[in-house]
Amino acid sequence: MFTSRFATELPNNGSRVMPTPLAQPYWVCWNQALADTMQLPLVANAQVLGVMSGTALFQGHDPIAQKYAGHQFGGWNPGLGDGRGLLLGEWLDPAGVYWEMHLKGAGKTPYSRFGDGRAVLRSSIREFLGSEALHGLGAPSTRALALAGSSEQVYRETLESGATLMRVASSHIRFGHFEWLAYCQEVDQLKALTAFTIKHHFPGCQGSDNPTVSFLHAVVDQTARMIAYWMAYGFVHGVMNTDNMSIVGETFDYGPYAFLDETRPNAVYNHTDAEGRYAFNQQPSVALWNLQRLAQALAPLTEPQLLAAAVTDFDKCYRQHYYHLLNQRLGGTPERPIAPALLDEWLALLAAEGQDFHIFFRRLANLPLSAWPGLEDDFIDAPRYTDWCRRILEQTEANDVQRQHQMLGCNPVTVARSHHLQTVIAAAQLGDFGPLESLFAALQEPFSERTEWREWHQAPAAAAPPPNLSCSS
Ligand code: AMP
Ligand code: MG
Repeated sequence: MFTSRFATELPNNGSRVMPTPLAQPYWVCWNQALADTMQLPLVANAQVLGVMSGTALFQGHDPIAQKYAGHQFGGWNPGLGDGRGLLLGEWLDPAGVYWEMHLKGAGKTPYSRFGDGRAVLRSSIREFLGSEALHGLGAPSTRALALAGSSEQVYRETLESGATLMRVASSHIRFGHFEWLAYCQEVDQLKALTAFTIKHHFPGCQGSDNPTVSFLHAVVDQTARMIAYWMAYGFVHGVMNTDNMSIVGETFDYGPYAFLDETRPNAVYNHTDAEGRYAFNQQPSVALWNLQRLAQALAPLTEPQLLAAAVTDFDKCYRQHYYHLLNQRLGGTPERPIAPALLDEWLALLAAEGQDFHIFFRRLANLPLSAWPGLEDDFIDAPRYTDWCRRILEQTEANDVQRQHQMLGCNPVTVARSHHLQTVIAAAQLGDFGPLESLFAALQEPFSERTEWREWHQAPAAAAPPPNLSCSS
């Protein structure tokens, strides 16, 4: 059943807007695996293409452009909101789970400012593959159900094909939704938004003495878990503004993101981020800063000291999630975890040597423990690597079969690297969606090595410059 509980329960948190039809739409990609998970009885047919291009709606949907604000690169901006996307409504699956459906590129809204309300094929493909890649790794993320192209041209740095993306998420509420209502001093609406969020997304907090504080605690933990995945798998979000932070801790709003190739802790790919505010290694501290903005926004509802205390838990939560993931990736077990200092040393070693972030994890996974020191010739500082191996050997379970099974199941062989995305986009812009289908399939099983996916298993050529991405999407 299609429903519209956000639009119905929080009608003041946005504007009712209908999609603006997009000319001559065509199918680019359909995510059948996600449709199956959602138990959504749809296929990529003409009727669904009508919804994708803004000429039809599923019965029960009541589109709304959500209003929010946010801190962008540290500066306050009250003038934000869905400027080119609409929350169409939800799909309530037979098991009782709600899946929000948001059409990105649906046309202008009252929050479009000077924008055209559209999305382009290039960035929609990047969002489709990026979000499905993180999901494939087990990381919390919004999902991508469908992608349609159009003959309509949209001007960015050059003319590009227009497109729409159907994004699916458990919630589209951002930190910026709360910041907006706090800024307007609309305390009743802030209360209603918080109650809505708790009721639908954090029902476990309802019975607590202070549901607002419990809710913030849960957001802190879920955000920490998301960031831990980014840091353990080499993902750089690129624009961690508070309007791009999901209240449920799902990776949200894919713009100039990139997965690392070379291990560079201070990597920045977004060329508008000249100061490196959102560099790879800054992400945990930025998340904490963003959570502090959220706590401030909730302050009219309860004692600020309790909120501030909840946020200080971020570090502890983050370390727990992060070392848990790295421990798994390097073959430790919950019973015999590898010491955090040794996990840190591994990444420090990769960084010092300028090694690829992903390949060595997989090479280690393919070897019995006793053979790890044999890779020493691949390191300039071989003694440092040998010493790390010696210490790991002392700390790790000797059961190679079990360890290898674990490591092969969490160290990807396919990563949504920027040069792969570029290959797929270049083909799609010429009307060939074969590479897109192939990379999408590989990213859905990132731990499976297959000959037909060999191209997607490769790192970029050593001489290739790092990607330089723009915010314009
Ligand atoms: P983003 O950089 O995608 O996170 O967007 C920041 C803000 O600008 C949000 O409020 C978007 O809705 C809005 N925006 C981005 N691109 C467009 C566009 N082409 N047309 C209208 N609004 C846009
Ligand atoms: Mg955004």
